[in-house]
Amino acid sequence: MALVETKISSLFINGEWAEADSGQTESVLNPANLETISEVAYGGESEANRAIQAAKEAFPEWSEMSPRKRSRILYKAHQLIYDNIDRLAEILTTEQGKPLKEARGEIKSAASFLLWYAEEANRVYGEWIPSSQNQKRILVVPQPVGVVGAITPWNFPSSMITRKIGPALAAGCTVVLKPAPETPLSAIELVKLFEEAGLPKGVLNLVTGDAEAIGQAMLKSKDVRLITFTGSTEVGKYLMRESAEHVKKVSLELGGHAPIIVFEDAELDVAAKLTLASKYRNAGQTCICANRVYVHESVQEKFSQKLMEHVEALSVGDGLDPSTDVGPLINKQALQKVDDHLNDAITRGAEVIHGGSKWDGGMKGYFYTPTVVKNVTNDMAVMNEETFGPLLPLQTFADEEEAIAEANNTDYGLAAYIFSENLDRSLRVMEKLEYGIVGVNDVFPATAEAPFGGIKQSGVGKEGGHHGIHEFVEQKYVSIGMN
Ligand code: ADP
Repeated sequence: MALVETKISSLFINGEWAEADSGQTESVLNPANLETISEVAYGGESEANRAIQAAKEAFPEWSEMSPRKRSRILYKAHQLIYDNIDRLAEILTTEQGKPLKEARGEIKSAASFLLWYAEEANRVYGEWIPSSQNQKRILVVPQPVGVVGAITPWNFPSSMITRKIGPALAAGCTVVLKPAPETPLSAIELVKLFEEAGLPKGVLNLVTGDAEAIGQAMLKSKDVRLITFTGSTEVGKYLMRESAEHVKKVSLELGGHAPIIVFEDAELDVAAKLTLASKYRNAGQTCICANRVYVHESVQEKFSQKLMEHVEALSVGDGLDPSTDVGPLINKQALQKVDDHLNDAITRGAEVIHGGSKWDGGMKGYFYTPTVVKNVTNDMAVMNEETFGPLLPLQTFADEEEAIAEANNTDYGLAAYIFSENLDRSLRVMEKLEYGIVGVNDVFPATAEAPFGGIKQSGVGKEGGHHGIHEFVEQKYVSIGMN
């Protein structure tokens, strides 16, 4: 049996799968070999408006259902993801490129958000506040915000969806989901599993197609009360600006430019291994990937040697090959950006110590060799813009103060990492880093039970943890006068 159908009626509106009104479709490509995997519906404004209407109509019943009942559907969907893990991982790798072992990890992570929010659904507590006046009582009643517009990226095509719709559905919201055009297949599979889990019609709707038109429909509608988005800072700012028109709530997970600081007292072998794991995971296409590495000047040589030992061992190739560590980039522009950042760095004086070119392993896809450069300076694009590819720049620092200043010298504020065996120093530096997430001797902070989110221009709001569900909840204040 084929992995997926060659043409999919990918719009899911009010419980029905449909094609675009225009009949138009869009191809989904495998970035490893540039072959077409499938054609999906290219929907637009009218389809999005119908989806919003369906979500609006489904809202009263869904929001009034007991949290226990909503929770049961989320548990079921979580179980169905595990029952289908092999197929889901293969689809993810085929449309996105990441190695199969990472894809399996992502599917498990996707499932974990449903499990976590199946549990949290029952714990959206209100408050009883002692009043300053004897004849009054004060209540705070949590209620779901309403219809949610969810826009998701291609770098984590499954887990970014469940991280949004898990808490939204648990809180009692209904959803219109627009996945990235590069990776709609994972979204379609997830929605099918929710359907199988017994989600009532209209509660979760899927619209693939014209991003701008679907986004406009969400923005123009007064019924969409919250836009939850993961993607570029540029599109995030646009959505935030446009949301002002109807004063919608926004929850935005945007770009990052994560620094890694390796202190002289770090366990260097661990730091080198984890630096590479952070940088080359998903071929560098993760918003919390290491973008800049600052190494104390006294250990730079030793650290670089260790990096070289481990980077040599990485194998590039088709993600479906079980031995692959680094798969292809998502598209041609992504590949070009890595090349542009590398050439810019070389022109400004950087030295390539590993890699430095596209990977040519006989496949047509968008592959790049894991690359490490040293002698980088702050004027280089790689030190300021998200490369979103497998290019690792190394810079040295002289003392703690300099490391902190350099790390904070950016408009981004998503994730930062410290390697040190000194607890006092780790805590001191952690407190001074202007980031929403700090990893201390750890580069994999994302997990369902913790609040993930950036500060500065990396976003607003949190996803994950008990915090994540509050994005989808309004606090109604009730003042009761007594005679
Ligand atoms: P990237 O550059 O990494 O693809 P984007 O921010 O462009 O990041 O994409 C993230 C998500 O935002 C995708 O689902 C994409 O289709 C969507 N998107 C892009 N532009 C718009 C827009 N103008 N309105 C609504 N969604 C958009």
